[in-house]
Amino acid sequence: MYSSLVDLIRSIYNTPQGYISLHEPRFFGNEKKYVLDCIDSTFVSSSGKYVDRVGELICEITGAKYAVPIVNGTCALHLSLVVAGVKRDDEVLTQPLTFVATSNAISYTGATPHFVDVDRETMGMSPTLLKNYLREIAEIRTGSCYNKKTGKRISACLPMHSFGLPLFIDDLAEVCAEFNIVLIEDAAESIGTTYKGKHTGRFGKMGTFSFNGNKTVTSGGGGAIITDDATIATQLKHLSTQAKIPHKYEYNHDQIGYNYRIPNINAALACAQLEQLDAFVKDKREIAETYHHHLEKLTGISSIKEISSSFSNYWLNAVMLNSRQKRDEFLEYMSSKDIMVRPVWNLMNHLEMFKQSPSSSLENSEFLADRVVNIPSSVRIKK
Ligand SMILES: *Cc1c(COP(=O)(O)O)cnc(C)c1O
Repeated sequence: MYSSLVDLIRSIYNTPQGYISLHEPRFFGNEKKYVLDCIDSTFVSSSGKYVDRVGELICEITGAKYAVPIVNGTCALHLSLVVAGVKRDDEVLTQPLTFVATSNAISYTGATPHFVDVDRETMGMSPTLLKNYLREIAEIRTGSCYNKKTGKRISACLPMHSFGLPLFIDDLAEVCAEFNIVLIEDAAESIGTTYKGKHTGRFGKMGTFSFNGNKTVTSGGGGAIITDDATIATQLKHLSTQAKIPHKYEYNHDQIGYNYRIPNINAALACAQLEQLDAFVKDKREIAETYHHHLEKLTGISSIKEISSSFSNYWLNAVMLNSRQKRDEFLEYMSSKDIMVRPVWNLMNHLEMFKQSPSSSLENSEFLADRVVNIPSSVRIKK
C-alpha cells in the first residue's frame, strides 16, 4: 500500500536502487574554498574572519540585531539559559517532544525541565494549554513566577520548532510575558523558517540554532544565539570566550566562563552553507510539496504541513499514521525497501533522567509520538 510512496521517494532522489537516507549534507558551494583559505591563514581556532562572518550572515538571514556564533546547538541552549538568569533549582518549561539536547541543556544549569504539552498541528508547545496550565499551577510573587506545587521558581520557557515547522510562537510569547517567564526558542531545526514574516528565534529574548551534520545547513559542529538586546549579546560573547577581559597580553577573567565559541574552521564551512540557505530551503519546499500532493491520494497516512501565515524550511518531512501499530508496520515496510525512516524521539518524560520531572498532561505529545514518522528530506544534489 506504500509502494507508490517508495516509488515517489526513489524518483525524487533519482535513485532507482540502493539505500536512501533521511538527511545528508550537501557541499556544492564555497565550502572547500573557505576551508582551504582558513587553513592557509593559520587561524583555524576560535578567532578569525569566518567566525565574525557567520554572525553577520545569521543577522542577515534572521533580521536579528545580534548573533553570537557558538560551538554547537546544545552549548548555545546552555549559554542562553545561563544568560537568561536560570539558576540551580529553578524549573524551565519545555516540551517533551524534542531532541534530548533541549532538556539536557536545562539540566546543565541545575534547573529541572518542566514538561508542557504540544499542539497536534505544530508539534510545538501549545500556547493555549500552557496558559490554562499556568493559571492552575503558577503564581506571581515579587515579580517572578513560581510553581505552587513544588515551590520552585519557573524562570524560563524553552519551546522547540519541530522539524522546521513553526509553533504558534507569537501567542506563546504573550503567555510567557503575562507570567514573567523569559522565552528562549530552540530554533535548532528551523533556520530559514518564519512565522508571520518574522524569523523563528526572534520572538523571545534569545533564539538558538544548530549547524550539526544532520541539520539544514551544517558546519560539522556549530550553532548560534540571536538576540535584539545589546547587553545580552555582549554577555553571550564574553561568556562564550572564557569571560576573558580583552587585553594585549594579560589574562584576566571576571566570571566563570565557557569555551563555547565556534572554531574558525567550522565557521568557514558554516559561511559557505549559509550562503546557500535560500537554495536549500527552496528545494526542500519543492520536495515537501511533492510529498503533500502524493500523500493526499493515500489513505491511513497524511503529511504534517506548515500552519497558515508561516514559511517552513521543511527540514525533515513528517507524516502521520493512524496508530502505533500502523506506524510500526510503515517503519518496517520502508526499511525493508532500503528507505530510511524514523519515528519521532522517545518523549523526554519517558527517559530515565527526566521521569521525575514535573509535567502537565501530555496527551498530544503521546498521540504524536505513537504516530509521527520522518521520511527522506535531503536537498537534492545540484552541482
Ligand atoms: C540538533 C538539535 C539540538 C542540538 O544541536 P547540536 O548542534 O547537535 O548540539 C538541539 N535541539 C534540537 C531540537 C535539535 O534538533
